[in-house]
Amino acid sequence: MKPGNSILSSYGTTIFETMSRLAAQHQAVNLGQGFPEGLECQEVIEACAAAVLKGPHQYPSMMGTPDLRQAIAAHAKRFYDLDVDWQSEVMVTSGATEALADCLLGLIEPGDEVVLIEPLYDSYLPIIRRAGGVPKLVRLSPPLWDLPREELAKAFSDKTKLIILNTPMNPAARVFDRDELQFIADLLLKHDAYAVCDEVYEHLIYDGLDHVPLITLPGMRERCARIGSAGKIFSLTGWKIGWVVAAPKLLQPIVKAHQFVTFTTPPMLQDAVAFGLSLPDSFFAKLKTDLAARRDKLKVGLQRIGFKTLEAKGSYFLSADFRPLGYKGGDDDFCRHITEQAKVTAIPVSAFYQDNPPDHFARFCFAKKDEAIDEALRRLEQFFKG
Ligand code: PMP
Ligand code: GLN
Repeated sequence: MKPGNSILSSYGTTIFETMSRLAAQHQAVNLGQGFPEGLECQEVIEACAAAVLKGPHQYPSMMGTPDLRQAIAAHAKRFYDLDVDWQSEVMVTSGATEALADCLLGLIEPGDEVVLIEPLYDSYLPIIRRAGGVPKLVRLSPPLWDLPREELAKAFSDKTKLIILNTPMNPAARVFDRDELQFIADLLLKHDAYAVCDEVYEHLIYDGLDHVPLITLPGMRERCARIGSAGKIFSLTGWKIGWVVAAPKLLQPIVKAHQFVTFTTPPMLQDAVAFGLSLPDSFFAKLKTDLAARRDKLKVGLQRIGFKTLEAKGSYFLSADFRPLGYKGGDDDFCRHITEQAKVTAIPVSAFYQDNPPDHFARFCFAKKDEAIDEALRRLEQFFKG
C-alpha cells in the first residue's frame, strides 16, 4: 500500500486530545485542554435553539451570513474603532483553526519563509509545511517570555511572506504591547510581508490591559489578516465559528482556500453568534472579571502547594514551574504523573516548541467551574503535601 502524505503522517495525535483521553481514562479533573466550563453564554445558546427551529438549513453564502458578517464588522468598530466593509473584508469559517489553514494555504507559495514565535499553537507548523512554506522560528522563553527583538529581526528576509502573531498568546498568556507590535509592523513594512493575526483570545485579557490588533497600527491595514473565534468569546468552543477580517486584496486568495476546504459553515450557529456579538459591553467585561477570578483562585492554590506560577495576562492559561515540588522528570512525565496519580490533568509546555523545549513547566487551564478548580487543588495538595 502506498503511504499517505509524509508531512502530515509524521505528526502524532495532538497533545490536547492525548491528555483529554488520559484524563477521562483516569477520572482526572481536566485542567489540560483549553475549553471553558460553567461560562457558556446562555443567551447565545437560546438564540441558536430558536434558529434551529426557524431555519433555514441549507448552505449559507460561502462568505458567511450577511447578519454575521455585519456583526463582525460592527464588533471591529465597537472595540477597535476599525472600519471594516462587511461585504468585501469579512469571511466566516469553521473555527479559527480553519481560518488559520485558509490563510496559510491561500497565501504561502512553496519556498516562502514564514516567521513564527515559539511557544506556538500546534496547527501552525503542519499546515505551513504542507503548503511548502519554510518556517523560521523565534523563541520566547519562560518565565518572562520576552520578545527577542534582535532574533526576530534576523528571522525576516526578502523571502519572508508572513508572520503568524498570536496575542494574547497560548500558552504563554502574554499580551504584546503597542511598542512590540510597532517593532513587528516595522519589520513587515521593511520586508514587504504580511501578518496572520491569531487573536482568538482578544476578549480574554486581564488586569486592565487592552488588546491591540496589529491591523490597527499605521501601514498595517492592507497587510494583516485578523482571525477571531466565537468559541472563545462565548465559551462555546465546540461550535467552531471563526472569521477572518482582511483588506479585499489580501482576503481574496484566503477565500479561495475556504471555498475548497469547507465552503460554508452551519447557518444556525452563525445566526446565534451574530446575536452574541451584539450583546452589550457588560457581557464582554463580565467574561474578563469571571476569568480573572478563576485565574487568581488557581494561582493562589498552586502557589500554596509549592508551584512557582508565571504571570497570566491573557488567554485561559496559567503555567507553573513544578521543580520546587521536588519532581525530577520532564514536563511530559510530570503531566502524565499527576493525571494518573493525583487525578489532575495539565499540558506540558514543551509541546508548544519544536526543539530543545523548556521542560519544567505545566500549563493549567483556569476557565473551569470554581468547584473543579477547588477539587483539582485539593487533589494536588493531598498528593504533594500528604
Ligand atoms: N489559535 C489558538 C492560539 C488557540 O489556542 C486555539 C484554540 N483552540 C485556536 C487558534 C483555534 O480556535 P477554534 O477553536 O476557533 O478553531
Ligand atoms: N486551543 C486549545 C488548547 O490550547 C485546544 C484546542 C484543541 O484541542 N485543538 O488547549
